[in-house]
Amino acid sequence: MKVLTLTAIAAFFVASTIAQEGATAGGTQTTSSYSCDPNTCKLPSCLCASTSPPGGLQPKDTPQFVVITFDDSVQAKLLQTAQDMLNVKNPNGCPAKGSWYVSMEYTDFSLVQQWYANGNEVADHTFSHVGSPSAQEIAAAKSMLHEYGGIPYGKLKGFRAPFLNYTADTLNTIQKQGFLYDTSSTATVDDCYWPYTLDNGMANDCWTGICDPGKVKLPGVWEVPMYAVMDNANTPQLMDVYLAGSVSDVTTWSNNNFQRHYNGNRQPFGIYVHPTHLTNYPGTPDTSSLKNGVVSFIQSLAGKPDVWFVTNDQLLQWMQNPVPNSQLASQPYMQCNLPNTGKEICNGLENITVTADGVASGALLQNCNFNTTNWHTCYNCPSAAPTLDTPVPAPLLQSTDPNYRKPVPDNCDSIWWDPVAGQCLCTNSTCAYKDTAIPTTSNSTNGTSGNGSSSNGKSGNAANAMVPVYGTLLTTVIAGLTALLL
Ligand SMILES: [Zn+2]
Repeated sequence: MKVLTLTAIAAFFVASTIAQEGATAGGTQTTSSYSCDPNTCKLPSCLCASTSPPGGLQPKDTPQFVVITFDDSVQAKLLQTAQDMLNVKNPNGCPAKGSWYVSMEYTDFSLVQQWYANGNEVADHTFSHVGSPSAQEIAAAKSMLHEYGGIPYGKLKGFRAPFLNYTADTLNTIQKQGFLYDTSSTATVDDCYWPYTLDNGMANDCWTGICDPGKVKLPGVWEVPMYAVMDNANTPQLMDVYLAGSVSDVTTWSNNNFQRHYNGNRQPFGIYVHPTHLTNYPGTPDTSSLKNGVVSFIQSLAGKPDVWFVTNDQLLQWMQNPVPNSQLASQPYMQCNLPNTGKEICNGLENITVTADGVASGALLQNCNFNTTNWHTCYNCPSAAPTLDTPVPAPLLQSTDPNYRKPVPDNCDSIWWDPVAGQCLCTNSTCAYKDTAIPTTSNSTNGTSGNGSSSNGKSGNAANAMVPVYGTLLTTVIAGLTALLL
């Protein structure tokens, strides 16, 4: 009877397209069948799941990474919320950085480029925000982030499944599409592993069967578990923890869990945010106290000589070549110099020596207007609104038009690319870039859509597999139903 009830609730939950990914993590943690031999699985290309720091580092010498991630569309107000949360410094004086898992609907691509140009990470969260996504959903988002956000394919390294609803098929797909990592799984206490490669399969979410022998084997693809905060009842809270209790309670849980990591084996600590919950909109309840609580907690972590706010991309660069905390400040991936191009180009940055209008790439933006959407880009607007089948329609302007923008070539990072002049302003080896991750077909979504049909067959299983999660979610389902946000 109870199972039936939970199944019904799960079905309703899925059918309601709630846009709140796994607010609570959980399910019964069964014994993992995971096994991995560290004598054969070695860095930089292979790493076994482990609760101990990589590279044989002692915890006291290991940086404490804090990963702050943002999910769903990128819009001006949401970007401001994210920037308010990242308004702290790392021990080397550089600003904190974050990762954004971007879905396409309502996204303003000029803001995606701005986020990237400031040293943050842009990653894939599908085209239309569906769980257990098809290959086409994943490829379409990647194409658009490249085409309209100017993100080099090789910098689009990460993926997170909407609703954290992924299957072995999802992981196989991201490997085929050249992603470096997935970050959709949950780590609680016993399985609080450092990121690891999937050469020997999954070691998190084992209660779903994903760790069963032979289920997943993806050499070189990394899994970055999402690290849950255990609340007072020892229930794991994962995303949007600030929704699970009072500001004071959530701060206490968060502090206790941070200390568990910091005074233990220094596994990364995660703060996983849907910024829409922390952003004020006219006519809706004031979110200021929630946001202030999260910001205060983040600020309380800053200032320690071994606490670093990094993107998942930066974290994985460290994982592949771990160095002690004392050497982290000087690593190339931890630097924060922005390019000085000498003129304002549409690269996602404002060149204040030329114009100080307060808008990155200001007057150079193109405005793309469609019936239901309106966004900006430094590149060419499409001639029609992007769809799943045609995520990158033909440009509105002909290449002979004086306003035509030159796409980012594969030998220039977009922060150095002037799309108006068609010129790469990087002139030395320190900023040189070669994108080696171009999709093999000219239309990447067509090239991979053959895998898409399998998602239908999996979705029923995924819904059933999620029942235990929703079982623990019962207390937040009602809140979730009112939160039809994204
Ligand atoms: Zn999402």
